[in-house]
Amino acid sequence: MTFSDLITEPRLLTAITELGWHIPTPIQGKAIPAVKEGRDLLGIAQTGTGKTGAFMLPALERQIDKEGLRTLVLCPTRELAQQVAADARAMARHTELWVGEIVGGMPMRPQIRDLKAGFDVIVATPGRLNDHIERGNVDLSQVEVLVLDEADRMLDMGFRPQIEAVLKRLPAKRQSLLFSATMPNGVHALALRILKDPVWVEAAKQSTVADRVEQTLYSVRKEKKADLLVELLQQTHWEQVLVFTARKVGADALSNRLKAAGIKTEVMHGDKDMTQRRRALDAFTEKQIQVLVATDVAQRGLDIEGISHVVNYDVPQQAEDYVHRIGRTARAGASGTAVTFMSAHEITQVRDIERQLGSELPRISLPGYDYDSNFLEASRPAQTAAKVSRSGGRMGTRSVEQLSPEQLRELLKVG
Ligand code: AMP
Repeated sequence: MTFSDLITEPRLLTAITELGWHIPTPIQGKAIPAVKEGRDLLGIAQTGTGKTGAFMLPALERQIDKEGLRTLVLCPTRELAQQVAADARAMARHTELWVGEIVGGMPMRPQIRDLKAGFDVIVATPGRLNDHIERGNVDLSQVEVLVLDEADRMLDMGFRPQIEAVLKRLPAKRQSLLFSATMPNGVHALALRILKDPVWVEAAKQSTVADRVEQTLYSVRKEKKADLLVELLQQTHWEQVLVFTARKVGADALSNRLKAAGIKTEVMHGDKDMTQRRRALDAFTEKQIQVLVATDVAQRGLDIEGISHVVNYDVPQQAEDYVHRIGRTARAGASGTAVTFMSAHEITQVRDIERQLGSELPRISLPGYDYDSNFLEASRPAQTAAKVSRSGGRMGTRSVEQLSPEQLRELLKVG
């Protein structure tokens, strides 16, 4: 399939070629014809699947020679809205269509001026769009296509009332497209209410490195993380372990702690020069040391081989970094293991990662390291973590670690 099978408008096809897109992604192949037919659509898709093109190209084609605000896209964050608007501008660059972004954290006045001048497509965050609606700055009565992008995240961020308020201002006769990486109940309910006889499209999840890596998540108090790592290293047979910390000081402190416990460790971070990093790396690849503690920056560009375990001692700030980190194990088709230590203040980051992965990380809660029920409640799926401790009784670190991945999965289902 090529784009000319999906899109007839030459001005869009030229832009697509200039973007370097040759073949439609699976979600584009499925969604574009449905949207062109005027159908409502429910798209289960993560970022990276080409979903923006999937909704924006047919929306642009539909309104290409019309004036006025016909397409409205709601996004959870300013960054995503800016990205979607930039992508839309690139797709529309040979047309007369004007794409605007209406996002929070920016001054109101220029937005008011731009809104008065008239956009054909608006990409907005729900809060700021509502501010403008309430002040009478924007007229949504001509909107023909509504897109809710990353609906799960918008609901998670508490935007439901703002979405409802926007819906009230839209014409009842319109086309609605809803995209979400996951389908929790809230999204399901919203989809049922606003989508009429929708076409379902699901972006086939590509087999990624993340699928080959056995991943688990330990909920552990911040001040207990070092103890937990020492215990895991002492009680298991992990071979070559790459440990990520957020900061240089944290890396140094942890490295000292591990050395004091008799674990052969080196550290690699931005304050170490290239020779020191090389030496640490050689010691690691030659198996003179078991553990290499590193910051994200320090390990970039270095090809580290033979890693059996990656430990996210601190949860990475960016979900992409998580995928990058765990990709350090499971090289060349091998399987590997990644464990993540999550303390209470890292729940949001973990949720972002799970959204990116499109699945939840199995929680393990260890006696002596776990949180009270409030914490487990806050961290999905709470019941899973609770189940492990319950069914395991006095389950020590060793017994969890001795379980095969299959046994562990089985255990997580118990109860
Ligand atoms: P998205 O999932 O919409 O955020 O898109 C992810 C990335 O894939 C963006 O950088 C797009 O520019 C790119 N992309 C989208 N569609 C295609 C395509 N058909 N071929 C190549 N790259 C694409």
